[in-house]
Amino acid sequence: MNTNSEHILDNKLNRKSIHSLTPFTLIDYPYKTSCVLWFAGCNMRCVYCYNPEIVKGKGKYNFYDIRDFLRSRVGLLDGVVLSGGECLLHDSVIDMLIAIKKMGFLVKIDTNGSKPDTLKYLLDHLLIDYVSLDFKALPYKFYEITRSDFYDHFVSSLSILQNAIIDFEVRTTIHSSLFTKTDLESMIEILSGLGYQGKYFLQYFRPGMGTLGDIGDSSFEPNLQEINDKGLEIIFR
Ligand code: SF4
Repeated sequence: MNTNSEHILDNKLNRKSIHSLTPFTLIDYPYKTSCVLWFAGCNMRCVYCYNPEIVKGKGKYNFYDIRDFLRSRVGLLDGVVLSGGECLLHDSVIDMLIAIKKMGFLVKIDTNGSKPDTLKYLLDHLLIDYVSLDFKALPYKFYEITRSDFYDHFVSSLSILQNAIIDFEVRTTIHSSLFTKTDLESMIEILSGLGYQGKYFLQYFRPGMGTLGDIGDSSFEPNLQEINDKGLEIIFR
């Protein structure tokens, strides 16, 4: 017979929050082999978003649906990546991560930075090993690009990660109709001013993908040499 707490735990793990699964990847977790769990839903609506079907879609799988797959990869994969959508929107994530860590996997999460309290909880309980944090836009452009108002949440998430012991990275997806070179230099200045000293990944918009907003292809390829990096390690990809 289940105790009450086991019953609550079961209910959370039964929630269909996972949209889809990538069983193997070499590129989503730095220097690790991993699989990716794509979580349905997001609290942003970035106009360049490549994953409209995940952002607008519903979860198809709960944790039990993917548990046997994960068990079969113990010793074969280094890690599990939680992406989306925004994985930290789901309160099933904490119990899922407890189970995933018990299997021995490293865990990376991709987050838009809108859930600093959940991020802190996961860090405090040693449930994640690496974080990729989106720096979506300058404050005055944040709503235009994300259709949300989470800039201050991003700053809080960055601060929490800077005080944590795990590795993390900051990244921005750049599109010529949304960012200027001056914008990027301002974002670098903000990161530098907030004391960030890690890697800053500037990701070119990938042409030919379906997006959430009515946005054409990008022609923007800023010259690495021309960007004032303020001492940060800027990596274009
Ligand atoms: S790009 Fe924006 S809308 Fe798409 S999943 Fe990430 S945060 Fe959500």
